[in-house]
Amino acid sequence: MRQIARHPFFLVCLSILPLLFLFSLACGEKTTEAEYYDTSFFAMDTYITLRLGQTDAEGQPLPKDLLQQASKEGEDTVYAIEKALSATDPAGEVYALNQNIDLMANPSETLLSAVATAFDLSEQTGGAFDPTLGALVRLWNVTGGGPVPPDDAIRETLVHTGLDKIKINGHTLVKSDAKTNLDLGGIGKGFAAQELLQNLMNAGIPYGLVSLGGNIGVFGEKPDGQTFKIGVRDPDAADSVVGYLYLTGGFVSVSGDYERYFEEEGKRYHHILDPVTGYPAESGLRSVACWSPNGACADALSTALFVMGVERGLAFYQNSTLSFEAVFLTDDGNMILTDGLVGTGLFEAASDTYRLLDTAEEPGR
Ligand code: AMP
Ligand code: MG
Repeated sequence: MRQIARHPFFLVCLSILPLLFLFSLACGEKTTEAEYYDTSFFAMDTYITLRLGQTDAEGQPLPKDLLQQASKEGEDTVYAIEKALSATDPAGEVYALNQNIDLMANPSETLLSAVATAFDLSEQTGGAFDPTLGALVRLWNVTGGGPVPPDDAIRETLVHTGLDKIKINGHTLVKSDAKTNLDLGGIGKGFAAQELLQNLMNAGIPYGLVSLGGNIGVFGEKPDGQTFKIGVRDPDAADSVVGYLYLTGGFVSVSGDYERYFEEEGKRYHHILDPVTGYPAESGLRSVACWSPNGACADALSTALFVMGVERGLAFYQNSTLSFEAVFLTDDGNMILTDGLVGTGLFEAASDTYRLLDTAEEPGR
């Protein structure tokens, strides 16, 4: 574990938070500054930061051993979740499930819970979020740099995907197609963020945040009365933001075509796959930032909304019972917000490159 600097304000930390940025916000009425006990480590293929408020409501410092213990337990929680959900670590449970087997008896509660959540969100998004794309993700090997797989290999792999091919039966995961593979990469970090936040609150930490790659969760009331200010990154400029979300709680996840990709013959092939075509989603988007009170939901929906594109995404927003908001950045330079972010002070645009569309101009309205 590596302790990083403890600062009174949120810092813009580019190397740790490449997708969403954290800022201090000087608009609170109270004057006591928030102080943090920070821990940073690498897990789940990304940098993770736990930022624990270290003063109580009266501004008194919390005992150091409480902060240390909560951070340590948080770190252990992430490692346990990583082990349960990893499809690439031979010690991972999903890796084991992805071998040519028919069932897995007694998976961990963590895996069962993550799979149940992923299946539910897959159903609710009409399959745009699809946790059964494991074999397709491996075939594309985007993180390994490709190459583009042959079309017939993509079609053959798609035959073995789909929510109907794997079921939760009590405490057993049953595969009706032994070749079906899970991949929880689109939900795992948000799921972990949710668990982490809950643990920190249970441990008596009064306020703070967790950051796992493009997934951030915030909780509690800061002593300075300020909200959490989170910058959404410009897809083409790692050090600039297109706008800010002002949060009192919940989770933000970002999915973008700039996170992981390779290029072949001048074309970009990114890591968010369309479960219908088997190819990287071409929905006219560069990125989607999604806020939700639930971490797994924010993460899965950022992926699903990216696959859907603006029109389908906004229709889904109108019809879904899930609680979420989103910022869409399109490949023709527009920024589009869901209704809950318009005129509510929850989002502030700050971009020269993306034009914020009026709601009346939004596609699909
Ligand atoms: P995210 O960055 O949260 O959008 O997650 C992207 C990751 O989720 C990819 O690297 C894949 O491991 C996996 N993935 C890709 N496409 C999908 C999809 N349509 N539904 C669910 N998971 C996906
Ligand atoms: Mg996601």
